[in-house]
Amino acid sequence: RLGCPDHSNPAPRTPNIMPMDARPPLHAMWFRNDLRILDNPALQAACSSGSKVLAIYLYTPDQHKLHHAGDTKLRFVLENAVSLRRDLEQAGITFAALRCTTYSDSVNTLVKLCKHHNVTRVFANREMELNEIRRDRSAQQALAAAGTELQFSHDQTLLKPGSVLTGAGTPFKVFSAFKRAWLKDISNCELTPFSAPKKQTPVEMDSTAEEEILSWAPKQPANQWWPAGSQVAQQQLDSFVQRSIEQYKETRDTPSIDGTSRLSPYLAVGALSLRRCFYEALLANNMEWDSGSVGIRTWINELIWREFYKHLTCLNPDLSKGCAFQPKTEAIPWLHDRQRLQCWQQGKTGYPLVDAGMRQLNETGWMHNRLRMVTAMFLTKHLFVNWRLGEAYFMQKLVDADFSANNGGWQWSASTGADAVPYFRVFSPQRQSERFDRDGDFIRQWVPELSTLNSKQIHNPSAAQREACGYPAPIVDHKTAVDQVKAAFKDQLN
Ligand code: FAD
Repeated sequence: RLGCPDHSNPAPRTPNIMPMDARPPLHAMWFRNDLRILDNPALQAACSSGSKVLAIYLYTPDQHKLHHAGDTKLRFVLENAVSLRRDLEQAGITFAALRCTTYSDSVNTLVKLCKHHNVTRVFANREMELNEIRRDRSAQQALAAAGTELQFSHDQTLLKPGSVLTGAGTPFKVFSAFKRAWLKDISNCELTPFSAPKKQTPVEMDSTAEEEILSWAPKQPANQWWPAGSQVAQQQLDSFVQRSIEQYKETRDTPSIDGTSRLSPYLAVGALSLRRCFYEALLANNMEWDSGSVGIRTWINELIWREFYKHLTCLNPDLSKGCAFQPKTEAIPWLHDRQRLQCWQQGKTGYPLVDAGMRQLNETGWMHNRLRMVTAMFLTKHLFVNWRLGEAYFMQKLVDADFSANNGGWQWSASTGADAVPYFRVFSPQRQSERFDRDGDFIRQWVPELSTLNSKQIHNPSAAQREACGYPAPIVDHKTAVDQVKAAFKDQLN
């Protein structure tokens, strides 16, 4: 069955390590980036293991911050943890949440908790990033030393990283080739999502109070744009599949239209499973991968990009250390220009579409994919600022911050990544604006000072119009900036 995760889910044998302690042994489910009860392979394995199950969640903000995650994401994580707590309560599972500082602290806490409650086996879903892999390795060792087994399931991708390889046995560097091989292998996999676990007999202790969990959240108003929870995510998926997916190919590039699924925040915290997304899309396409609705297949293509970047992260640990995927691009003399960076961050570059995208990000914690590409390419190719600074800013602001997708998107835009845009193909912000925000509706929404301009003027206002609207002059000249960046790349790469 190639690289398919084990979906048959046999009930694991309980090791014969009954402690001296009089407490009956328990099993535990360790939740991380998989804050849901539906279609959760590790939870399913825990609940069919024959023992009572304790749910554990170790909130580790410092670790999130190592990935530059900001307040919006942290708050969203905790709101989803609270929603998970409610779902677990319905399923008869007690939720023990604790706040830790670092990953080593979380490992120590986990070991103590397991000892205290006589947990003999812990179930968890694997994660792909380097720090998380290291944490899991040390948790496995520390738990084993205390007589507890840590058993992993596979959840974050449909096919296991390392299972989709070239004929020479190496990872793919080109998306289209990866996709072809991926589609071939996926047909052997069972894709039906797991249903909710059967009702459990509760452990005799209270779940951590909702108020306590929320007291760890950064002090900022609850995010009005992204209500938390698996149920919301599922409803959003259902409504997207019923109403919009067929038109996805035509609507996905127009930021003023609600034409994409907006499921990324839920996928990023695991309130929704990736398998569920694939499954629902396939179901709507009569279980066909390569025929039927173009809209559905285009959406599936995006989900496969997500897979591609997760596989790359897992198979190239240097990415998690901040390295460029193409080592020769490390010599590009990127600027660390704080002033340019700030203008871009604040949406004050004088390029209306770029500014509209950045203001949408700052206000809502989310940005349309077309604009992520436009703004990332603008920072790297027009302002020639190091892509790592933009990557970190996105991580800090995005509610859907996800290391693999973000790093992949930034390295694509900066022409340093796997299957990246060639350095000489630089988007013109004005042309992008005329193509994808033709009437200027999106710009009007997010750059209201330009709202009086007509749909021709708004893409590149004249000096007099800028002055009258109180809108800045372009921070750099498009042609001069692009000529400079092309020359810099050419110098280093040839
Ligand atoms: P839809 O268009 O409905 O797509 C469905 C799902 O497919 C998305 O939710 C996402 O999980 C996945 N997906 C779509 N496009 C991509 C892509 N290009 N790469 C990887 N996965 C994709 N996505 C994140 O989830 N987190 C990030 O931190 C992130 N940072 C990005 C940074 C840059 C510079 C760029 C260019 C892209 C980034 N993306 C990121 C990818 C993409 O922009 C978002 O996933 C998408 O805009 C989310 O909106 P949606 O859920 O409506 O997507």
